[in-house]
Amino acid sequence: MNSPEQIDAEKLLSVLFYSPNATAIYRGGDITILTANQAMLDFWGKDRSIIGKDFRTVLPELNDQPFFDILKNVWDSGETFTAKDYPADLLVNGSFQTFYFDFEYKAILDDKGKTEYILHTAFEVTERQNALSMVEEKSKSEQKLIDDLSALNEEYLTTNEDLVSKHEELFIANNELLKIRKELLTANHTLAENEKRFKTLVEKSPVAMASLRGENFEVDIVNDMVLQIWNKDRSIIGKPLEEALPEIKGQAFIDILTEVYTSGQPYYGKEIKALIQNGNDLVEHYLNFAYQPIFDENKKSTSILVVASDVTEQVKARESVVEFKNRLEIAMDASRMGSTEVNLATGNMESTPQFKYNFGYSADEEFNYSDLYNAILPEYREHIRELVREAILTNGIYKAEYPVKWKDGSIHWIQAHGRPRYDNNGVADRMVGMTTEITDKKLAEQRKDDFLSVASHELKTPLTAVKASIQLLNRIKDKPYSQTHVRLIEQSDKGIEKMCMLIDDLLNMSRLGQDQLMLQYNTFNLHEMLSKSCHHIRLEDKYQLILKGNEYLEVYADEHRIEQVVVNLVSNAVKYAKDSREIHILTESFDDHVKISVQDFGQGISESVIPHLFDRYYRADYLGTSYSGLGLGLYICSEIIRKHSGKIGVNSKIGEGSTFWFTIPKNAEYEKAEVAAS
Ligand code: ADP
Repeated sequence: MNSPEQIDAEKLLSVLFYSPNATAIYRGGDITILTANQAMLDFWGKDRSIIGKDFRTVLPELNDQPFFDILKNVWDSGETFTAKDYPADLLVNGSFQTFYFDFEYKAILDDKGKTEYILHTAFEVTERQNALSMVEEKSKSEQKLIDDLSALNEEYLTTNEDLVSKHEELFIANNELLKIRKELLTANHTLAENEKRFKTLVEKSPVAMASLRGENFEVDIVNDMVLQIWNKDRSIIGKPLEEALPEIKGQAFIDILTEVYTSGQPYYGKEIKALIQNGNDLVEHYLNFAYQPIFDENKKSTSILVVASDVTEQVKARESVVEFKNRLEIAMDASRMGSTEVNLATGNMESTPQFKYNFGYSADEEFNYSDLYNAILPEYREHIRELVREAILTNGIYKAEYPVKWKDGSIHWIQAHGRPRYDNNGVADRMVGMTTEITDKKLAEQRKDDFLSVASHELKTPLTAVKASIQLLNRIKDKPYSQTHVRLIEQSDKGIEKMCMLIDDLLNMSRLGQDQLMLQYNTFNLHEMLSKSCHHIRLEDKYQLILKGNEYLEVYADEHRIEQVVVNLVSNAVKYAKDSREIHILTESFDDHVKISVQDFGQGISESVIPHLFDRYYRADYLGTSYSGLGLGLYICSEIIRKHSGKIGVNSKIGEGSTFWFTIPKNAEYEKAEVAAS
């Protein structure tokens, strides 16, 4: 019985325990530990001295957990117990940490159906568990962020499904291994003398296994699983490993094998990167494996048993979780989005710096749920509370926009999304929330609303006048044509003219908004254009337009648009500087540009409003005097000039009048002329 091939029950089991999965065997009602492999000892944090002792004595730290009772029940009933994602608190460096396991207590029965052994196999899935809960959290909050991210999320979920199915595969493989072990146990006396049977067993094993003989690691026994990992066929049998897998030259494996062979100590590798030949490419794989030396009667290594599993998908899935998290962070940063988790019982919050910043707090200041509510303007608080309550009741998402008051007194608008999280008993214990500051957006909305009300008001005034005139005309239509007819027709015409101008502004405005203002360049005589423009103003005797400058000055620009700017400036002079009898239009030529100015001698503009004059929708108030207008004219002028790459501005002094001016660059003129000529 002492030949090298002979393996007694415990030895054989220990050989089979090289699997990176933790394995142990128990017997008896007090659950005596017959044997346990290194991986199991590692989980327990024990050494081999516990072998032969009973479970409760050597693992007192597990006494408060259900494991002993389950084992006892398996022993008494002969019924196997299987668990998935089961938490166990294990002692690590003196303190308890929770790990998750898929494990099985398999009752191995004798001929009479009584339990003979319990075979315990466990596979740690803490990372999967963490990955799963992380995915759940992230994907839920992320869904509400940006459309972009939902695509990302789907991608992520696919990876996760792969991870789950991969794990199921491993679990099935594990069960099959258990069956083979059972076979082994019942037949160990014959096995002990039967190397061939051992070989068959390795070959049939659902876990990748190989036996490498001698100091050159000749491939001796292999199964299909290991061939699959190595991406080789059976022709490698009999070859030294370096010849069988030439690509591993320069990788760590041969050195580790040599170390195991000479020291006689087993080696366990976790998530070790291996580059494996596939066609012309080297493909990256991650492997968990054990190298176990097998000794002759003189305790000298004769061969090494390799047990391996390919964990590439798990590693990649974890990497993709990290990648996903990074991308989420980038997206959140880019959209200035802050996130938080509120403990509903204590009101404590864990928030990102951006989240605190949105409420006017700095990253290192304490900020909790009551601070958040206090920041919300009082009239919004109850409504927000109600939304949160409803989200908790319906497991829904709450969405809200509300103003908050920062500690410096300034008001900011917040857009918030939140979702409750529940504990194992289904009680909402946390709230996950996201916020973005939307003050600018809110102000823009406000300006737009104000503008719409101004625009409708402005259109309504001339329309009412036209309507009244036409109603009167209708009443006297059969009467002989008179001065009244003339007056009413003129009044209608004026009103319609005014409406046309307003509508022109609105149309220009919407074109600018869509960036559809196209310039049509041509060369024209500036003086000629200016002397013909503003015809309607010249008709009114009240004003005198005085044109000064070089009569022969030519420019290359969009003549119609430049005329539009001049008409606008002159109309403003007439409108806002009523008493200015003279309006001067001056043209000047400089090295690289021409300058056109429109000067009035009205009341002038106060310094404080000048910076806003060219803003969209801006209308200055004039000491109670109300002028009609949409506040668009100067904005449109500035856009036209900007398109010409020119500048626009105003010089004004209260009491002395205003000079509005703009420039058209000459270089643009030449460039454009060249383009046109080619
Ligand atoms: P609106 O359509 O209301 O006239 P504009 O954009 O043309 O709008 O002008 C913006 C504001 O600039 C006007 O409301 C007015 O207060 C001021 N403004 C423009 N031109 C003059 C001027 N020549 N003299 C004094 N104020 C002016």
